[in-house]
Amino acid sequence: MISSPMMRTTSTKTNRRNWDETFQAITEAIGRGFSAGINRIAAETEIPDPFRVLISTVISLRTKDDVTFAASQRLFNVAATPIEILDLDPSEIAGLIYPAGFYRNKSNQIRRIAEILLEDHGGAVPASLLELTALPGVGRKTANLVLSVGFGIDAICVDIHVHRISNRLGWVETTTPEQTEFALMEILPKRYWIPINEWLVGFGQQICTPRSPKCSICPLLGACPRTGVAHSR
Ligand code: SF4
Repeated sequence: MISSPMMRTTSTKTNRRNWDETFQAITEAIGRGFSAGINRIAAETEIPDPFRVLISTVISLRTKDDVTFAASQRLFNVAATPIEILDLDPSEIAGLIYPAGFYRNKSNQIRRIAEILLEDHGGAVPASLLELTALPGVGRKTANLVLSVGFGIDAICVDIHVHRISNRLGWVETTTPEQTEFALMEILPKRYWIPINEWLVGFGQQICTPRSPKCSICPLLGACPRTGVAHSR
């Protein structure tokens, strides 16, 4: 039986081993070849391209992974740099990323981001949380994904899956994703900051789902307080 990393804290060594066991169980449960949306897009280029990660994360808002992946590919086949994006008018961008949610708003946002990158950053994506969150529509979640997946910088991207699962498992007791990010930074070994998002997205899509989590087949059941879970299968 796996011990929850929060049911610890007899020694640092024990904590480390429990995080390792927990994430090993999670990655085995979701399948070792699993790759979530933005990571799939980042894997399309030999070296992850922060601009593609940024733009595809904008496209991904309220949009399913497969739709995000296809929409991003269509856009990047035509325009994969800020200069190339500015050669397109918003309706062309909208047509390429359709049927992503809010595709018209996103097309304007993508164009504005490209403009700012060219005007203020020499056409490059800045590798700083402060500068990324100054871009239109870019919050901490997107900025941390760009830093972690695009640049390989240790950062925790807390989306709805990471926030929900971290609370259910009792790792944190928080009410907002931002609080979860700061709480995880206190307890999670840095080597897990980058991959935790992809793993918990997969775990949240397959097992610890928003409604009716599949606790009966979950490898963490014995160590999970199931905080906030009303019913389970
Ligand atoms: Fe989620 Fe249930 Fe597994 Fe806990 S036991 S992590 S609530 S699926």
